[in-house]
Amino acid sequence: MSTIDQLNDNVSYMDDFQPLNSDEINTIKKAQDIMRALDSIACTACHYCTPGCPQQIPIPEIFEAMNRKLLFHDDEAALKRYHQKTNGKSKAKDCIACGQCKFAFRSILPS
Ligand code: SF4
Repeated sequence: MSTIDQLNDNVSYMDDFQPLNSDEINTIKKAQDIMRALDSIACTACHYCTPGCPQQIPIPEIFEAMNRKLLFHDDEAALKRYHQKTNGKSKAKDCIACGQCKFAFRSILPS
């Protein structure tokens, strides 16, 4: 939002606010439980981790390929995806374990 009109427009959607009922809350809780039980890397591909990588590794794309392996147990599809996503780019094996990606989010936090 960058104008008062945009702010008013966004806030107007709360005019008829109705809180979730217990059935809706339970449905969300069930969905959360299912998602937590999945054996996968919780990456939303925000790319906050990538700007500081000295090796320019496409970290979220590699996680996406790994999630195919973890979720669907399809090693061939996961490997194909990995090669598609890293074609012409750095590979996971190029990681030097500098740790920069683990702390990259700090650069986007207000000081
Ligand atoms: S540890 Fe360093 S080299 Fe490896 S992915 Fe993270 S930022 Fe890149």
